[in-house]
Amino acid sequence: MSLTGTYDPQNIFAKIIRGEIPAVKVYEDDTVLSFMDVFPQSEGHTLVIPKSEARNLLDIAPDALQNLIVKTQLVAQAVNKALTPDGIRIAQFNGEPAGQTVFHIHFHIIPAYDSQSEAPHASGQMADTDKLKALAERIKAEL
Ligand code: AMP
Repeated sequence: MSLTGTYDPQNIFAKIIRGEIPAVKVYEDDTVLSFMDVFPQSEGHTLVIPKSEARNLLDIAPDALQNLIVKTQLVAQAVNKALTPDGIRIAQFNGEPAGQTVFHIHFHIIPAYDSQSEAPHASGQMADTDKLKALAERIKAEL
């Protein structure tokens, strides 16, 4: 699949934006949506996506990208206040060989804890929805 291929409006994040499938939301405004990753690498793994269509960092409009990274900082600050991790990794993958599995651009906010090991990327270990909802409530309270 080419890095500069056509945007597929049937990708799973486009369906979440349209409300066709559920997500445990943390933050939403006219331009971005943030929700809990259902296959979290660590406790509090959160995603931030633009509502506009873009596959990756190479084809997103510059103004949408600027807004996306600022909103990622906003959510990361709330994750930090809510969960007090020892570190936070911000990750973003472009193209399948680079690790991208959903072709709607997103930033990962992955808390890192001295006391917890991290699951691998896209491990397929689905989190308990009630636990994700409880984490989302704690993060939302800091926004
Ligand atoms: P990437 O591999 O960078 O494209 O990241 C896609 C991320 O989306 C992975 O971390 C998946 O765990 C996550 N993911 C996939 N499907 C869903 C979903 N329905 N809701 C929330 N997160 C998802």
